Amino acid sequence: MTARVLVVDDVPANVKLMEARLSAEYFDVITAMSGVEALTICERAECDLVLLDVMMPDMDGFEVCRRLKTNPATHHIPVVMVTALDQPSDRVRGLEAGADDFLSKPTPELALIARVRSLARLKMVTDELRMRAVTSHEIGIESPEREAVADTGRGGRVLIVDDRPASYERVASTLATEHNVEIEADPNDALFRAAEGNYDLVIISLDLANFDALRLCSQIRSLERTRNVPILAITEPENNARMLRGLEIGVNDYLMRPIDKNELLARARSQVRKRRYTERLRDNVQTSIEMAITDALTGLFNRRYMESHLATLMEQAGARGKPLAVMMLDIDHFKSINDSYGHDAGDDVLRDFALRIKRSIRGIDLASRCGGEEFIIVMPETDITVAAMVAERLRRRIAAEPFVISQGARSIPVTLSIGIAGLRGRDDTAASLIKRADQALYRAKRDGRNRVVPDAA
Ligand code: GH3
Ligand code: MG
Ligand code: MG
Repeated sequence: MTARVLVVDDVPANVKLMEARLSAEYFDVITAMSGVEALTICERAECDLVLLDVMMPDMDGFEVCRRLKTNPATHHIPVVMVTALDQPSDRVRGLEAGADDFLSKPTPELALIARVRSLARLKMVTDELRMRAVTSHEIGIESPEREAVADTGRGGRVLIVDDRPASYERVASTLATEHNVEIEADPNDALFRAAEGNYDLVIISLDLANFDALRLCSQIRSLERTRNVPILAITEPENNARMLRGLEIGVNDYLMRPIDKNELLARARSQVRKRRYTERLRDNVQTSIEMAITDALTGLFNRRYMESHLATLMEQAGARGKPLAVMMLDIDHFKSINDSYGHDAGDDVLRDFALRIKRSIRGIDLASRCGGEEFIIVMPETDITVAAMVAERLRRRIAAEPFVISQGARSIPVTLSIGIAGLRGRDDTAASLIKRADQALYRAKRDGRNRVVPDAA
């Protein structure tokens, strides 16, 4: 993993020092001497993480950070503010500008590398998702970037894991002003609780009385259902080494006691906002995967998916000496349904038709819509005789129950014709199998429609 780190500082000596330390840990380093220069580099997507000096002439670090975080093109790039300022109020100001973390000047070596690593790792996950997510307006999904920039980070579901009432009561009452807060006072139940709750943030005290909190952090990170939930750790300043260990394990952010309320709120908002953004990206990716393989009108698989999957199913059947049948279905005189009742009524029929197909087949059968009113069903482990019986049952069901159209205003009779073909040995191809089913379908149409015709082997 070679993350590209942008070091921004107006003092050349500081830049040089930081560059040397990061290069020694095999990071690629780019440098900028001003805020404007840094913004340009980030907009060209040339870096994975920004180490940003706060005190700079012209544009200070807070302003650079604010601009990066309100620009949909750059808001996902992690920003670590490097500052000599050490008041909680400065940190809050930075967090409100959108900063992901802080390092004090002079920067302790271990802390620097641990934080850069942990943020770079997260950035890679986000990048992977961003790459796979389709551009939203193309498919009518709200843009995750725009929503992320507008998200206040409030109203999250937060779980606090802490077994000391004096400690969790304060944290909970502070957070309750902006979030829905739950407390788990028994660390033994925390993992289960986190897995069940779909939280936006889990806050863990690293100073649990009878439980290794780092173990809990690591369990949360490795469990499928909690892998992506952000963890904010709270600890005593003297536990710094454990804190760094936590960052390695996958803790996202931390706070030192005594807790500054505004800093707690700002850090929680920042984690909740990031969590929602990556969840939206994940949903978006999921939707685009589904869209690539399904037909939007009926929810059945599309032709492309059916064809690629049919080849695999045929290979399996051939290798195991099992039968496989393909049904090709075509609605009779569908054009006249459109002509008489309109295109929307035609769509109603197609949707209901797909539903009736789904109800008539087994889980392992693959139903797809292959053209306007043409459908193909692939039936593994089924010979042509059994397929003909299934087809006949489906034909009767379609013909026996009229289709409701125009919001229930009327119902019309619909029939279909079906051609069936079966796999012929290991040299058979998907194309010729489909062609034989198509020829059988053609005969069904020619012989008067509303019938099932198996391919005459
Ligand atoms: P046949 O019995 O020979 O199959 O006659 P048909 O009218 O069903 O077949 P034809 O292929 O002549 O017409 C199919 C019609 O399906 C023409 C097309 O406008 C319509 N169609 C294709 N896709 C859609 C769709 O998504 N929605 C609607 N409502 N109609 C569609
Ligand atoms: Mg037709
Ligand atoms: Mg047709």
